[in-house]
Amino acid sequence: MTEFKRALADKLTGLGLSFSDTLLNTCAVYFEKVAEANNHLNLTRITDEAQAAEQHFADAMALCRAFELPKGCRVIDIGTGAGFPGVPLKLLRPDLDMTLLDASGKKTDFIQAALEQMGVSANVVCGRAEELARGALRESFDAAVSRAVAPLPMLLELSVPLLKTGGTLAAWKGETYETELSDAAKALETLGCRLADRFLVGRGAILLILKQKPTPGAYPRRFSKIKSAPL
Ligand code: SAH
Repeated sequence: MTEFKRALADKLTGLGLSFSDTLLNTCAVYFEKVAEANNHLNLTRITDEAQAAEQHFADAMALCRAFELPKGCRVIDIGTGAGFPGVPLKLLRPDLDMTLLDASGKKTDFIQAALEQMGVSANVVCGRAEELARGALRESFDAAVSRAVAPLPMLLELSVPLLKTGGTLAAWKGETYETELSDAAKALETLGCRLADRFLVGRGAILLILKQKPTPGAYPRRFSKIKSAPL
């Protein structure tokens, strides 16, 4: 894990984020668990240490340069997979009230066990975002984070209903983020949102989307609809 820690330290320094040795060690421990479980769970295709340090950890933590998450605020990672970007954010900012959501029980079981072993407290939830948004968690989060889950118009419908009015979605997008943004014009309007800012990371960007109005009762629709007729 020497290579992992060196690469992470370099990237965080490049981002202008301050960090401790303990943080580097904790991230290395979590990545070791991911790499171990990957042999039987198919959690990630990134196995190279330097690449994982950058793409799984530093790119996630870059949010803290792009956006001020208030102390103790409620954050949900939608489609967290093996815990990205939510786990690195929680490790960097232990004060966050972090919920890690994924539809796959195998993935949430892995995260639950790994975090418990490390003594990190987070709410790990197995479920679907569009179903959660029809229950008690509707409009209850200050921020939502998400990477590699769905094209922006679909992602907006999955995530915005979970945000409070005034809350922000941070969406990690690849090179084609400009196209995704123009495709999402109608979804942004229907869901009462606007692009507040963008922060370049790697070849893509973290899009910061502000929710300005309560979500109309008709949304989110069922997943089959979200997918077959995206906003
Ligand atoms: N965010 C992670 C994982 C991306 S893979 C990363 O960047 O590495 C996409 C994940 O989203 C999968 O684990 C899948 O189970 C989950 N997912 C897809 N649709 C979802 C939904 N509607 N609600 C919750 N999780 C969902």
